[in-house]
Amino acid sequence: MSDLNSFLRGKRVRIADDDPVIRSVACAALEAIGLEVDESPDGEHALRALELQPPDLLVLDVEMPGADGITCCRRLRQTAWGAEIPVMVLTGHSDGETIESAFEAGATDFVTKPLDPQLLQHRVRFVLQSSDAASGLRRTLDELRHSQHRLATAQHMASLGNWEWTPDSGEMLWSEEMYRILGAVAAPGAATYEALMAAVHPEDRAELENAMQRAALEGKSWSLDHRIVARDGEERFVHHQAIVRADALGEAERVAGIIQDLTERRRAEEEIRYLSYYDAITGLPNRRMFEETLRHGLVQARRHERILGLLFIDLDRFKRVNETLGRMAGDELLQGVAGRLQESVRTTDHVGTRRQERPDNLSRMGSDEFTVVLTELRSPDDASLVAHRVQEALKVAFHIGGQEIFMSASVGIALFPSDGPDAETMLARANTAMHHAKSEGPGLYRFFNASMNVRAMRNLQLEAGLRKALERDEIVLHYQPLHSVATGQVTELEALARWNSEELGAVTPAEFIPIAEETGLIEPLGEWILRTACAQLQQWRRAGLPPVRVAVNVSSLQFREQGMAEMVRRALRDFELDPADLRLELTESALFGDDPNVIQAMRALKELGVGLALDDFGTGYSSLSYLVRFPIDTIKIDRSFVTNVGADPQADAMIAAVVGMARRLGLTVTAEGVETAEQKAFLGAEGCDTLQGYLLGRPVDAAAITEILRAAAQTPGS
Ligand code: C2E
Ligand code: CA
Ligand code: CA
Repeated sequence: MSDLNSFLRGKRVRIADDDPVIRSVACAALEAIGLEVDESPDGEHALRALELQPPDLLVLDVEMPGADGITCCRRLRQTAWGAEIPVMVLTGHSDGETIESAFEAGATDFVTKPLDPQLLQHRVRFVLQSSDAASGLRRTLDELRHSQHRLATAQHMASLGNWEWTPDSGEMLWSEEMYRILGAVAAPGAATYEALMAAVHPEDRAELENAMQRAALEGKSWSLDHRIVARDGEERFVHHQAIVRADALGEAERVAGIIQDLTERRRAEEEIRYLSYYDAITGLPNRRMFEETLRHGLVQARRHERILGLLFIDLDRFKRVNETLGRMAGDELLQGVAGRLQESVRTTDHVGTRRQERPDNLSRMGSDEFTVVLTELRSPDDASLVAHRVQEALKVAFHIGGQEIFMSASVGIALFPSDGPDAETMLARANTAMHHAKSEGPGLYRFFNASMNVRAMRNLQLEAGLRKALERDEIVLHYQPLHSVATGQVTELEALARWNSEELGAVTPAEFIPIAEETGLIEPLGEWILRTACAQLQQWRRAGLPPVRVAVNVSSLQFREQGMAEMVRRALRDFELDPADLRLELTESALFGDDPNVIQAMRALKELGVGLALDDFGTGYSSLSYLVRFPIDTIKIDRSFVTNVGADPQADAMIAAVVGMARRLGLTVTAEGVETAEQKAFLGAEGCDTLQGYLLGRPVDAAAITEILRAAAQTPGS
């Protein structure tokens, strides 16, 4: 840049012309002599921009839509801040009339079109020089610029941007800081309503748009917190506020807004939140956070009518560790305990399904106390299951400071809704239950509710008894016949497990099968049941009794284990049975979740030729897609529908629909729980293939079945 132009460096010129070609020619010419140029596509735009950032020189086209150059100039001169800004008009007419009126309106100079860049440079230099020479004016401008600069700095420090929007024309102006907050590049035409909206997080956009439109149409001011997605993809949180005001120049309404970037502050707040809601030693949520989690959980449980469990865990004899090994070791132990607890409370097990608990459901209350909020309970037993798991997890020795430390905990359990309407009551009761456990402990859990303790106690007894039951031959199989509707003959026998416990008496499968599933005993038990049923069938075959099939119930957990198909294959081979002689009954919970092991096992069994029946149909999820996706060949309609035959039209309709559907899919249908002649007649007429129930035969032991089969053999065709 020549010396001639050096005084121009850093000076700002705004050019307003509706012709983008002229604008860019002028821009290039002026930037070439060291000026900084801002552009406006018309006069109104220029006027508003001037107010935010007064230039050293304004270049106005005479002919523009809206406010033309002369009008603009006149208006500018009427304002307090625009009186001294030199204005140069661009005119296509070299006629004296236009030029005259421009001067009248307060123009400083003029240039004619077509634009000669060199001439423009020359004139601009001249105008700025003479305006520079007017020292008073310069001081004014400097001060203005200075305060403008201060404002920009202040805005930057406060992360505060502002904008102005004219709904009528749709134009927008942004302050410097706006660009930074929105992550936009300051360029001519960049500040638009659309650009602002585009920067807003998609989920928040509608709300902002709504506010903007209401401001435009109803003159409503607003304030809103929302997110911005900057160009680099970074999310920012902003507080956004706008007021509606009349144009300073008396025409269209304008909306003026400020945007404050709260991202940094949010981060700091989150940090503070972390510090005040989490425990420094273990990193677990602290008591405050726990109270929020519990309250929130209770609201949800009430709304969805669910059970909520609260576990109060207190380490046994933790004080001793602190006293003998020191606080450091104590802290380390607490961290170790926290880790084990986290592992054991993450999921709530159920038969065949696993439910994920919230990750923040475990808290440290202080010293050696922890709490767990269980929101995914299907039955109170699940709470004792978690308590049990907690205690098992602590049993493994901790290694701290070269020492082996053995830990145990006392656990108190309170349940919602039975133990309390609110968080305070629940906590107090869980605490009471914990003290109760501790007094009988160490290493025990107790429910607040005494009857729950009886139940938990029984579960413990069942578990202990079940472990011995198989060795002691306390489990036997009974068989219930299935009758063909077409022939009236027994075609199949369902094996049903019975447990006659020495200590507990007769225990129903409804009680002991779930315990077997929870404890893992279902695997040996399941295999024993299958092999016993197969062995029995082999005996009946060898005795020359009429051919029947045998049906064996299989737990969904067995299906999830690998090697299920292999186990079945082995049993069939060992007892010289045809795969078609065996049918396995599984419930929908086995199919739930698309476990690849389950699908694989079912395919393998199907290929082998073993029958597969879907048990208790109608009680679970009863997804039609199961019937199509899984290789099932029989549906067993649940007893609850059969019981209601004739009494509940919906049950009748359901049975008719299931039979119809099964026909289409080529499946056979069995109805369970047939107790009356009326039910039998209805089910036969509807098209069920086989019937099962007390009317036709109760589950009885193998000897009794032998008699039944023998009798049938002697009266053929009955
Ligand atoms: P399930 O597979 O639906 O078995 C049918 C149940 O209905 C049996 O109860 C049977 O005695 C009963 N039942 C049959 N006909 C009638 C009737 O006309 N009226 C009434 N009220 N009940 C009838 P049970 O033997 O108590 O078995 C209950 C459940 O325990 C079985 O339901 C099955 O899910 C499970 N279970 C039984 N044995 C085994 C087994 O060996 N392995 C597995 N995994 N589960 C078994
Ligand atoms: Ca069954
Ligand atoms: Ca059933």
